[in-house]
Amino acid sequence: MDAALFQFDNSYTLLPERFYARLPPTPVAGPQLVRLNEPLARHLGLDVERLHSPEGIETLAGNRVPDGAEPLAMAYAGFQFGSWVPQLGDGRAILLGELIDRDGVRRDLQLKGAGRTPFSRMGDGRAVLGPVLREYIVSEAMAALGVPTTRSLAALLTGEQIMRESHLPGAVLVRVAKSHVRVGTFQFFAAQRDVEALRLLADHVIARHYPSAAESDQPYLALLDVVIDRQASLVAHWQLVGFIHGVMNTDNTSIAGETIDYGPCAFMDTFHPETVYSSIDHMGRYAYRNQPPIAHWNLAGFAQALLPLLDDDPDAAVAVATEVINTFQARFEAHYGDGLQRKLGLGDSQSGDTDLAQALLDCMAENHADFTLTFRRMCDVATQDSQHDGPVRGLFENPEAFDQWAVHWRRRLLADNRSDSEREADMRQANPAFIPRNHRVEEVIRAAEDDNDMAPFEKLLSVLARPYDDQPGSERYATPPQPGEVVEQTFCGT
Ligand code: AMP
Ligand code: MG
Repeated sequence: MDAALFQFDNSYTLLPERFYARLPPTPVAGPQLVRLNEPLARHLGLDVERLHSPEGIETLAGNRVPDGAEPLAMAYAGFQFGSWVPQLGDGRAILLGELIDRDGVRRDLQLKGAGRTPFSRMGDGRAVLGPVLREYIVSEAMAALGVPTTRSLAALLTGEQIMRESHLPGAVLVRVAKSHVRVGTFQFFAAQRDVEALRLLADHVIARHYPSAAESDQPYLALLDVVIDRQASLVAHWQLVGFIHGVMNTDNTSIAGETIDYGPCAFMDTFHPETVYSSIDHMGRYAYRNQPPIAHWNLAGFAQALLPLLDDDPDAAVAVATEVINTFQARFEAHYGDGLQRKLGLGDSQSGDTDLAQALLDCMAENHADFTLTFRRMCDVATQDSQHDGPVRGLFENPEAFDQWAVHWRRRLLADNRSDSEREADMRQANPAFIPRNHRVEEVIRAAEDDNDMAPFEKLLSVLARPYDDQPGSERYATPPQPGEVVEQTFCGT
């Protein structure tokens, strides 16, 4: 007999039945593999050839439940755009099971777009090709950039047409995550005053993600502390690469600190702190500049959910939680400051560095400079010689604004005791040449949807896999959109 396709080792199913609904994916009419992430498959210890076989494709599409799988939809709640929704849950995703990867890390294997579940509310449980490709591209780009994220193992067409604004090709994304536990999972049980469930969930998360918290005198406080730090670090990463998540609801906030639930997300081209892409974010709640305070707010919700575990005395619980929550801002600034330091090519931090970085960002915003390209081109001129500044200063509406700032920058560079080549090499690792620019993502989706042409998707993925390398011949992926190519809005597509 064949070995199992997946060596599942499931732990979420050990939690009580009120944590999830058990059900298999709903089969689809005509599964077709669009892409398999082979390096990731190998990292998960999977047999790539077998995944390409009819058996593999049927399994990835949800038509066949593999041996050892215990499929389920997770229950959770959440604050969506600030409004409480007591029951959300996986309305179109099925967790097949958990795998241990080559590094010994436990990973969820989830099918997104796998059909209706008890949590589907009015939805059809399905996903469509455009958003599946967007999530595949952006999550894999984030991974290559070094930003914690869920991963994409495979994208499939279902052979079905899905009704949205029009009929669109149905698709399934096979997603891999450290776990799918969200702030909203804790809030689900906290709202029901189900303290037993909260404790079981917290213990599960500690054992799975933060075992050192178990050794603390106060493990649940240690859990709060480490989750705050991971989120502060994650959002700092986002700010440093110009990523705008677009739907930072508490149900989209991962306890493991990964970027999760890619919807109307986008990378900024022209730098402006107020930038919003999501078509549903009318008030700009999740604008670029608001991401740190929103993360802080979401974590305050996590702290509130944990209160019953922190102390039997409610006032004492609030006091300890508040103390930890109040560290968010400083932690974010520390992570973000370190990152900016590297982006500017500065060595050990000195007083005035934050102001120097802020002055550049202000200057970029005023002069509509491209975020990614400005920093990348600065790598080429991080010396005392300003003769070759043309390509950078030309990104600023008023190039002299850059010149003026660069005087201060170069003076500051002199204070570091390192060679130009060392600095340049370090800057190149902090300032990507390639990000998934919105107009290129749209171009890929258009080719796939309209012409059934996946070649642009493959090409974009191959460029984004090496974001810090110059890739001669791939300039069109590095440059900002022409005025006619700018994509102003992105959609959830759910
Ligand atoms: P998202 O915007 O993808 O984070 O989803 C928010 C909530 O809506 C989650 O509970 C999803 O499971 C649910 N949802 C989104 N799209 C669908 C759909 N097509 N069918 C059923 N539920 C959905
Ligand atoms: Mg979500």
